Amino acid sequence: MASDVFVDEALPRLDLAAKYSRASADTVDRLRHAERFTEVSIPVRKDDGSLEVFTGYRCRYNTVRGPAKGGIRYHPDVSSGEVRALAFWMTFKCATVGIPFGGGKGGVIVDPRKLSERELEALSRGYMRGMADVLGPDIDVPAPDVYTNAKIMGWMADEFDTIRRGRYPGVITGKPVARGGSLGRDDATARGGFVCLQQIEKKRGWNPKDITVAIQGFGNAGQHFARLADEAGYTVVAVSDSKGGIHDPNGLDVRDALHTKTETGRLPKQGKAISNEDLLELEVDVLVPAALENAVTKDNAKKVKADVLIELANGPLTKEADEVLAKSETLVVPDILANAGGVTVSYFEWTQNISGYYWKLETVHERLGEIMSDAFNQVYDLMQSENIPMRTACYAHALNRLADAME
Ligand code: NAD
Repeated sequence: MASDVFVDEALPRLDLAAKYSRASADTVDRLRHAERFTEVSIPVRKDDGSLEVFTGYRCRYNTVRGPAKGGIRYHPDVSSGEVRALAFWMTFKCATVGIPFGGGKGGVIVDPRKLSERELEALSRGYMRGMADVLGPDIDVPAPDVYTNAKIMGWMADEFDTIRRGRYPGVITGKPVARGGSLGRDDATARGGFVCLQQIEKKRGWNPKDITVAIQGFGNAGQHFARLADEAGYTVVAVSDSKGGIHDPNGLDVRDALHTKTETGRLPKQGKAISNEDLLELEVDVLVPAALENAVTKDNAKKVKADVLIELANGPLTKEADEVLAKSETLVVPDILANAGGVTVSYFEWTQNISGYYWKLETVHERLGEIMSDAFNQVYDLMQSENIPMRTACYAHALNRLADAME
């Protein structure tokens, strides 16, 4: 195998965490392997009458703490190694926040933008037909991921119900609210990251209005984070999307930015224009990468001046950038903690589905806040007692939980 993200990035994380964890060597060995890896072929009759056969994967990495949990992505670059690595990360993310799920992930090698709506539905139902034996509310529960959405989850859930001849809303999360989705899922990821910021605020005795925040990426995660920070009195000085950003050292009008982005798809003209690269290097207290992977590399890591970096995006730091920042004064709140609010509310959705009792929005917010702040403080304490980067502490904390369950 040439370059495999599972071998190159996931397994070294496990070995490093093991140094600071009480997990036995047997547990660590067990966690070097996925429980089950399934590959299916999915024939789809195209609109022009031709047949195309797609490859789909599902990895059930570990279920010792509960059913596997993790999204299904549709992307031309999906590979078995990537799916395995993402399932490994989900195992550690769920263990970090202590929700009763293991880790899983799925994917199909496809560019969904090249499919018609009917072809996309046929592919999604075909994926579920291939995977129905290995999925289910009590064993492995998918969700949306890159280029999949609530509608696709709805098709898959419907196909599962047809195959099993029953109603199983807990087979998939991220469903439309009308089909058993949870309130509060839309801003859950940002809200979870924001709870981490509030915990740091407490520890450092910050007054929000004196604290400046820059956010890269103005989609679901970035926009909600900007709104929550603004509402709490933080000074949001810069935001950006794929076309570039805006910067005002005295603070942006966040409500206007949100409104204009929703109405026009673009950021408003406010302050000065700033490039995505320069945004990362601003003299701010808090930097929030909320766009793509590998935004901070070995070339710009040294130029990051923020006191705190909250990884709302998955993998926004390359391995080299992470090493540079681990040696710096910047506190990096790692993705498997910072963006775990999303999977936590997915857990709430599943809980509501299997109990058949649906919660108010305030209940979702309150319980999310409790889970995220507990997890943050447990990881923070381990970081301090072992004098290790927060990312290593996070993996060690998760590994302890996995070991407790396995041993
Ligand atoms: P999204 O598609 O809604 O938004 C992505 C944003 O990034 C858009 O504003 C886009 O313009 C911007 N962007 C794209 N390329 C960029 C670039 N080169 N520079 C700056 N901005 C750029 O996606 P999202 O749901 O907000 O997810 C963002 C990140 O958060 C991803 O890494 C995702 O994996 C992670 N995440 C999201 C969730 C969730 O629930 N939405 C959960 C966990 C992790």
